Amino acid sequence: MNLVLMGLPGAGKGTQAEKIVEKYGIPHISTGDMFRAAIKEGTELGLKAKSFMDKGDLVPDEVTIGIVRERLSKADCDKGFLLDGFPRTVAQAEALENMLSDLNKTIDFVINIDVDQEILMERLTGRRICKSCGATYHLVFNPPAKQDVCDKCGGDLYQRADDNEETVGNRLEVNLKQTKPLLDFYETKGYLRNINGQQDIRIVFADLDKLLGSLHE
Ligand SMILES: [Zn+2]
Repeated sequence: MNLVLMGLPGAGKGTQAEKIVEKYGIPHISTGDMFRAAIKEGTELGLKAKSFMDKGDLVPDEVTIGIVRERLSKADCDKGFLLDGFPRTVAQAEALENMLSDLNKTIDFVINIDVDQEILMERLTGRRICKSCGATYHLVFNPPAKQDVCDKCGGDLYQRADDNEETVGNRLEVNLKQTKPLLDFYETKGYLRNINGQQDIRIVFADLDKLLGSLHE
């Protein structure tokens, strides 16, 4: 079961990734974890990546792709993998196709957890934090009993600057722009499956589970 997981910030990708990994026992390969592991193991590519990161530079594609290749060659990927955060560009997606073909593997599905931008805005801008005790709330999912007041200590609630509409809107725009060509690429390849992420978390997973179950039929 070889999967690529996609979804905009706030779509619930992390939650679904956890559930897939738990049920199907395939490794969750996120770019961040992969870099950290390669650096910790001190592999040549890991050290190369680190030299760029230490300078605050972007890690070049050839290094990132090499690290993905090393990771996908490991024995725990024999029965499958869930790639998360890679590929980010069509060039990376093409590199992934080539390396999988070298490894005698193919992608089964590229799963896109699909949520309308307006709903993502609501999810991502709803967080409120207590000035006094740091407790976190969400206007939709976990609202305080009294507006703008902490249930625990009576402190004032505030919105972090990162969570305001403008910042979140920009972040979504950038992500959308980056993701669109990738979704088109995988659509053309026939790998893309859109899952409605606007449902209850359990129903989103039930839909996913049904899709993944079809692989063994
Ligand atoms: Zn508080």
